[in-house]
Order: sequence, then C-alpha cells, then structure tokens
Amino acid sequence: MNDNRFGWIVGGIISTVIVLLLALLITTCVHKTNLKKSPIHKTTHVKETYVLRDKPKRFKPNTYKPNIKEQAASGSIDLATFSPGQSLVFVDDPRAWWESDNDRNDIEDDHSMHIAMEAPLRRLIDLVSERNATLKIQDSYRPAGVHNKKSLHKEGRAIDLTCDKLGLEELAKLCWMAGFDWIFYEANSRGGAHVHCSVKRNIK
Ligand SMILES: [Zn+2]
Repeated sequence: MNDNRFGWIVGGIISTVIVLLLALLITTCVHKTNLKKSPIHKTTHVKETYVLRDKPKRFKPNTYKPNIKEQAASGSIDLATFSPGQSLVFVDDPRAWWESDNDRNDIEDDHSMHIAMEAPLRRLIDLVSERNATLKIQDSYRPAGVHNKKSLHKEGRAIDLTCDKLGLEELAKLCWMAGFDWIFYEANSRGGAHVHCSVKRNIK
C-alpha cells in the first residue's frame, strides 16, 4: 500500500515536471515565432520620400529663380487672411544653426515659420547636411522691423539663409532643388549676402 502511494506520488511529480517542461517549450517557440514576425524597428531619422528639382548649372549673384517677380511666384502678402496661430509652425532640426538661438538680444524666433515653409526647409537641411555643411537660418517670421511692408517675412513665408562651408551660389542651387517657390541670391543685401526663399500659402 505504502509502495503504491509512493509510486503515485513519484508518478505525479514526473507528470507535473513533463507538463511544465512542455509548457516552457511551447512558450519559447511561440515567443521566437512572434519575434520573427515583428516588424523591423524604424530609426528615428527615416527620411520621407520626396522628389527634388534638377540642380541648375548656374545661379548667378543678384538673380532669382524662377525669373519672375516674387509676388507672381509666391503670391502677395495678405495680412487680412494671415493668423499667426493658424498659419505658423515651430520647426527645429539640430543639424541646422538658428540665428535666434545664438542671439540673446533677439526677441524674434527663427523657428517660427509658415506651415508651407516646413517641407522645403527640411529637404534643404538634408541636402546641406549631406554635404557636411551646416545651414544657417538667419531670419524667418518677422512681424515687424527690418523688412519692408510687403515682405513675405511678415507672414513667415520667407526665409533668409546662409551656410558655413558652401558658397552662396551652391546654396541657392540647393534651395532650388529643395522646392521653394522663389529663390533670390541677394549678394548685395545691406544686412549681408544671403539667399532669400519664399513659398506659396498652399502646402505641397
Ligand atoms: Zn528675406
């Protein structure tokens, strides 16, 4: 009788161990299968796919592309339909240099710009960074001050750019590739030579 009971107990323990081992094996297999099925993690710097314009052969100083007036290319200023809260976005990218982050006397914010400006600017930062240079955002949204009354800077639809390692002609060419609607290589600007770009209101 005692032997029988002992046999049952040993049998019970062995059965339990086998069941536990089987459960462990199944769990491991399922886990491995799930790992194989899980998608590859995307990096945080995945580029959106975009089409660039062809690079122009020349971009001479004091010329603009397309060769029409800015108002015709990007549309006139219309402050009646402009609302900073609706139209402006905050753009940041550590690969670029932002003038207002480096000028403590500046109350303006160069990260503020019209929503239509964001896509071409991000493409331009990619293009400049790929050439191991740093894009410098000198001026973007300026509700008052240095720019003239009809300046698209007042709507955040214009941006002034320079670059540390690339010449301004090369930068102007990259601005064209990036897709701004109007690009002006302002070689004789009072505030210093730069490339001025502007965009239409509609987002591309
Ligand atoms: Zn400008």
